[in-house]
Amino acid sequence: MTTARKYVLESQFQGEPKRSDVKIVEEKLPPLNDGEILAEAVWLSVDPYMRPYMRRFKAGDTMIGTQVAKVIESKNEKFAVGDYVVGAFGWRTKTISNGEKLSKLDRSMYTDKKLSSALGVLGMPGATAYFGFLELCTPKAGETLVVSTAAGAVGSIVGQIAKIKGCRVVGFAGSDEKVGYIKGLGFDEAYNYKTITSLKETLQKACPKGIDMFFDNVGGDFYDTVLPLMNEFGRVSICGCISQYNLEKPEQGARLSGTILFKQLKIEGFIVHRWLARWPEAFKEMNGWIEKDQLKYNETVTEGFDNMFDAFAGLFTGKNLGKAVVKA
Ligand code: NDP
Repeated sequence: MTTARKYVLESQFQGEPKRSDVKIVEEKLPPLNDGEILAEAVWLSVDPYMRPYMRRFKAGDTMIGTQVAKVIESKNEKFAVGDYVVGAFGWRTKTISNGEKLSKLDRSMYTDKKLSSALGVLGMPGATAYFGFLELCTPKAGETLVVSTAAGAVGSIVGQIAKIKGCRVVGFAGSDEKVGYIKGLGFDEAYNYKTITSLKETLQKACPKGIDMFFDNVGGDFYDTVLPLMNEFGRVSICGCISQYNLEKPEQGARLSGTILFKQLKIEGFIVHRWLARWPEAFKEMNGWIEKDQLKYNETVTEGFDNMFDAFAGLFTGKNLGKAVVKA
């Protein structure tokens, strides 16, 4: 009999997630039935969405999440032992699956070195950057983009896609190291939002022609400050609002309907699964950019399943540069 280990909620998160909110338990897995596979986690993803989404779950439920796993037993003809799959198995070391909703990784793209990218640039966060920016911001060469959490998994890719499209890119991130990183990626301007004295004045200086597109990962004050500086017919892609995820109640904000009305802004929220059927199209194009060195990505790797919670908590204190992944 196989034993799996998994993280379950011990109690609902209150404020910043704490290690004592989750615990690792063991689970005995039964022998496989026909049509099933046994998969072992190789790379696990920690993502900001887990914090708000776990509100829907109760104590004892398994932490949600996606992983790259290796098929180690198979009674399903579609999957052979040794195949790698991406599955929403949660925070667990081994999983029995009937193969539904699994994507088998094409090893010509996801080589040994790039397996973890299936959770990052060539995975959900990459698709988020690609579609959330291109579809909702509809960039034109010469336009100015502002992007928040610009050194993160999504933000760092958004800024680079905007550069590929000929835009001027202004990014904000939470440390000088991150600012140096995104400048190295080709961002035109980059600022540490924790050390600037005035976000409004910084934006005015960095965007002398105003802001045409805003890709927001943060929400809160950041959103309230950027919106009045948008140009007429500006486009705003609401990707995330991480500044609000640890709060029990969202903060009260500015009343911006006048700005939205008179500037005729287009503001749209999205969940990346809207474009699920088109994800392969994004990965193909982004992989081409990676191979031509037009698109770069970084991963912050946490070693060991037992340290997975630290990787997750680190998302809310800015520990990651690029995509946060866990090596099982
Ligand atoms: P990141 O890699 O950007 O990691 C999170 C980063 O957020 C941290 O490194 C930190 O960067 C910043 N941060 C954390 N807490 C705060 C805070 N209180 N205020 C401001 N910044 C904070 O994560 P992702 O790229 O995976 O996700 C970015 C955003 O996109 C998130 O809001 C996420 O929920 C959203 N998202 C939305 C999807 C969708 O379908 N709409 C899909 C995927 C992600 P720093 O050091 O710069 O502060």
